[in-house]
Amino acid sequence: MPTINKILVIGAGIAGPAVCYWLKRFGFSPTLIERSSKIRKGGQGLDVRGVAIDIVKRMGIYEKICNMRTQVELGRYVDAEGNILHEEKGERFAFRQGEDVEIDRGDLVEILIQALEGVPCHFNQWITSIKQSDNDVEVQFKDGRTEHYDLVIGADGLHSKTRRMVFNDDEYKLTNLGLYFSVFSIPNYLNLSHTEVQFEANQKLISLTSDKSPKMAEAAFCFRTQNVLNNIRDENEQKRFLRDTFQDFGWETSKVLELMSDSDNFYFDSATQVKMKSWTKGRVALLGDAGYSASPISGQGNNLALVGAYVFAGELKQAGGNYHRAFNRYNELLHPFVEANQKLGVLVNESTLVRDEVSQEVAEERSNKIMQEVEIAANMISLPNYE
Ligand SMILES: Cc1cc2nc3c(=O)[nH]c(=O)nc-3n(C[C@H](O)[C@H](O)[C@H](O)COP(=O)(O)OP(=O)(O)OC[C@H]3O[C@@H](n4cnc5c(N)ncnc54)[C@H](O)[C@@H]3O)c2cc1C
Repeated sequence: MPTINKILVIGAGIAGPAVCYWLKRFGFSPTLIERSSKIRKGGQGLDVRGVAIDIVKRMGIYEKICNMRTQVELGRYVDAEGNILHEEKGERFAFRQGEDVEIDRGDLVEILIQALEGVPCHFNQWITSIKQSDNDVEVQFKDGRTEHYDLVIGADGLHSKTRRMVFNDDEYKLTNLGLYFSVFSIPNYLNLSHTEVQFEANQKLISLTSDKSPKMAEAAFCFRTQNVLNNIRDENEQKRFLRDTFQDFGWETSKVLELMSDSDNFYFDSATQVKMKSWTKGRVALLGDAGYSASPISGQGNNLALVGAYVFAGELKQAGGNYHRAFNRYNELLHPFVEANQKLGVLVNESTLVRDEVSQEVAEERSNKIMQEVEIAANMISLPNYE
């Protein structure tokens, strides 16, 4: 039986630190590397919900997450002139129920990394090549150094380089749901207090949220467009695209776009789903968005990452380090959960960004439907107990 111990995990978002935590707890020796020079703090609040709540409880970090949770109390819909169309309480606005808890993405990443006692974490690090043999995986780091690992895990997000280096083009499919998404921080010049305000029309949405830090607000844009974005990885191009698309949109848009230039945590991406029959090949496995992005519109990316990390490490432990067996189980157990959440992403995508301004009836009807489906998808797996 193959013996597995030394594991390289690529990417310190949600999936990477989470799998390191479980691998360490189950007796393996993971090393985490991250391309950025520090924790990437960008992004909106993410909901931890469904079976992922059990996982963060088992990790002992649920209380910490609750202590650092977002505290948005009010969601407000406005029109192009800023007139209030209607308001909803924060929990309902974000489809939260029961023990669900929302936390800023950056805070969740930080909590996960703090839980990694004894796991080496190297920032400003990436690999340039990867070579597999029957016995191990040889990787080369950016400085030319080579190292051998028993397994390599790609948790490097939607645009995963690990996926591109290891899997053939016909082994994965990227489906752009036709939606783009951007988030960045700006000064809270509207003096919002624990409130999110959004204006939605013509398949475009802008929102401003101010929560725990009264001086800052989070601006978010979400939109469909026929315009073509030449290079989705180029920040200047992304900002130009955003300015072109939201020109003359109304409400606070012009001011927010002006303030965008000074923001230091600009994030932009398309709502893209990654579909693969198998997330493993040889001694390499993909985790989180790298293998099964359901897109930000699903609201389930972090939960898929948390569940995937737990199941991956747990199956490796259960199989006594027999990675063939563990990889098969990982693929088998996770597929129905991933498919349910990708379906949810498609549903939410179809129900949001309508052509007209949102009436109270439309908003309520769609909130009810989405809430029901979120509850089903977020619980679509029975978690094995690996302890
Ligand atoms: C800055 C940022 C902001 C986000 N904001 C939102 C949001 O507002 N709403 C939402 O729904 N989702 C957002 N996401 C996506 C969300 O985090 C994921 O859908 C989900 O949490 C799954 O996490 P993940 O760990 O698989 O991927 P990610 O959270 O994307 O993490 C991947 C990590 O891998 C690192 N990485 C990439 N390439 C390499 C490489 N070659 N070598 C080493 N490291 C690498 C990245 O820097 C990143 O830290 C955001 C992601 C990022 C990176």
